[in-house]
Amino acid sequence: MMANYREMWEALGMDLENHDNLCAVLPDAFGDVYLSQENRPESMDFWDMVVADIHGIRPAELIEAQKDGKKVFGTFCVFVPDEVVIAADGIVTGLCGGSQFWVPDGEKVLPKSTCPLIKASVGARLGKTCPFFRIADMYVGETTCDGKKKAWEILGQDVPMHIMDIPQMKREKDIARWKEEIADFAKVVEETTGNEITPEKLADAIKIINAKRRAMKRVYEARKADKLPISGKDVLLMTQIAFFDDPQRCAQMCNRLADELEDRIEKGVSVFPEGTKRILVSGTPMAIPNWKLHHIIETSGAAVVCEETCTGTRYFENEVPETGGSLDEQFAAIADRYMKINCACFTPNTDRTKDIIRLAKEYKVDGVIDVNLKFCCLYDTEGYSVEQALKEEGIPVLGIETDYTDADAEQLRTRIEAFVEMLG
Ligand code: SF4
Ligand code: SF4
Repeated sequence: MMANYREMWEALGMDLENHDNLCAVLPDAFGDVYLSQENRPESMDFWDMVVADIHGIRPAELIEAQKDGKKVFGTFCVFVPDEVVIAADGIVTGLCGGSQFWVPDGEKVLPKSTCPLIKASVGARLGKTCPFFRIADMYVGETTCDGKKKAWEILGQDVPMHIMDIPQMKREKDIARWKEEIADFAKVVEETTGNEITPEKLADAIKIINAKRRAMKRVYEARKADKLPISGKDVLLMTQIAFFDDPQRCAQMCNRLADELEDRIEKGVSVFPEGTKRILVSGTPMAIPNWKLHHIIETSGAAVVCEETCTGTRYFENEVPETGGSLDEQFAAIADRYMKINCACFTPNTDRTKDIIRLAKEYKVDGVIDVNLKFCCLYDTEGYSVEQALKEEGIPVLGIETDYTDADAEQLRTRIEAFVEMLG
């Protein structure tokens, strides 16, 4: 596996020796977490294949596209509107780091007390061990949390960066300003790609991204069934890879999976024994290959049926209206849609608590696990209000804080097992 890509990685200026160390641990981790599951949907074969060559297949595609003159934009947040990049024939790839492997390289330049997602993302670039971080022609950062804002200054010394200024509140004037920010981003994308964004091209791009969102939503809908046709781990993998894949292929593969899941529901096929407790996970994002919490939950007698995270519902809920119109009108429609994402960087953010309660009901969950990545002050602080609101609704909740290491795995397992048992 992966051997035939060495030349490509070398040309990308990667640290091959250290990269070998990363490649050596991934297959085992994937085997333990994923391939150990029974009766997985057959359509997961696509995602298994992608993971098996995660630093090969898609990077090679991106490099081919670059040879044809296309530009690749690397993003770190679900607020950066893919539609704008697609409308200029650009390509978007997610760049969030989900592995402890990259954290030490991040810690060389960042305070240890930075969240692991930021440390891993910076480490993946500076340590030269991720092809996606090498390939991207431009990084697009945002002003969400303080850690990210400052990390972009460090990354910006190494790679061209555009920063989108995301409002901290959602008043009308904030949304209007966000629309202007999207229009400015469109100009940067036009300059970088050399392609003009026309109203027609933007309308097409909106349709492409909406179709992807709808396909992902179909898979999520299938998890509302009493008999769960798919594990939470498998859906998490689908979502994590959606950030890296071509949006049209992503939609096609998600629809193929949804077809199979709907068929399973009709036939009453489940991947969990009857009576398995249903868990909603809320909180900070889980970038690939962070499968830690899902794995612990799903080997502790429970199943994850929904994620209220940016690697979950916050990624695909709400569509941009496909009404067309001028660029200005479409930027406004995009701004509206993105402002419905309830990230803890906003104040007030009470709509997020409402979302969690709504999802808990829709997915008929027995309990919520609210997870916080260590040193994420925003979600940690908001956890107080989340737990308070859930308790008022009579929904059991367990708040946990963790990072990418395995150091706390046994302690987490003990707490989660006790929580699941308490659910009766
Ligand atoms: S949690 Fe907030 S900052 Fe992070 S990806 Fe989501 S929206 Fe962006
Ligand atoms: S998890 Fe929190 S600290 Fe980390 S990048 Fe997201 S908002 Fe920032």
